Amino acid sequence: MVISELVREIKKELSDNAAFEAAEIVMFTLGIDRTSLLLCGKNEVSETDAEKAFSLARRRRSGEPLAYILGFAEFMSLTFEVNEATLIPRSDTETLVEYVLEKARGRRIRLLDIGTGTGCIGISIAKYHGDTVLSLADISRKALETAAVNAERNGVKAELMRLDILNELPRGVYDIIVSNPPYIKSGVIPTLQTEVKDHEPVTALDGGVDGLVFYRHIAGIAPKLLTKGGMLAFEIGYDQGESVSEIMKKSFCGVEVIKDLCGNDRVAAGVFGG
Ligand code: GLN
Repeated sequence: MVISELVREIKKELSDNAAFEAAEIVMFTLGIDRTSLLLCGKNEVSETDAEKAFSLARRRRSGEPLAYILGFAEFMSLTFEVNEATLIPRSDTETLVEYVLEKARGRRIRLLDIGTGTGCIGISIAKYHGDTVLSLADISRKALETAAVNAERNGVKAELMRLDILNELPRGVYDIIVSNPPYIKSGVIPTLQTEVKDHEPVTALDGGVDGLVFYRHIAGIAPKLLTKGGMLAFEIGYDQGESVSEIMKKSFCGVEVIKDLCGNDRVAAGVFGG
């Protein structure tokens, strides 16, 4: 068995996340950390707290994602506030962050994150790559407010831009543009699991009839925003490696597709030759 298979198998094994989620709900309700949970297991819980924890558990059982119930999620070992206006950061997206961190090593970067949501991609890059001038763009005012809170709580400075990327051009000149745009085909959305289709914002998911609307558009405008030698790096769906690299090859060189830890295509990136 290869490593990626092992990760996949272990993931299946863990799909019943009940023990982990129960602990999270109890720690959140009581305002305690994992150490106290382990050490104070014999302490009495008030009826009010118990009832609170049960009501959160009922929300979870009805399909609301744990991150929305708690109001935060972990990404790149950082904590991000999440709410109904933002997608929940996925561990798969860390592949994009790690890729950009590797490429940016040793130089100052002006970075634009398009469709930033919680801000998790841009903020993590800026956090781990000190020499970053960060701009975060999103169509949703609420998402941008959330990104601002997340930048602040993680000690990162960011310029915020509210714009509809399909109709407006961001201002500025950049060395790197990153985006995890909406990339689900419109027709597939009703078939997604309850957690996603009934709770996460559809504007953050819907990539149009073929799921590629944002890739085509962003790859089209990126040359106007990037310096010569600048990089565009996308998160992509597991089955979009070929289609997104074809789109990118029109204006970018050295286009490559990178796999995530499960062995699925997850990032497409290329360099703007000028
Ligand atoms: N950039 C954000 C994330 O990766 C939001 C992406 C989106 O809304 N499609 O979580």
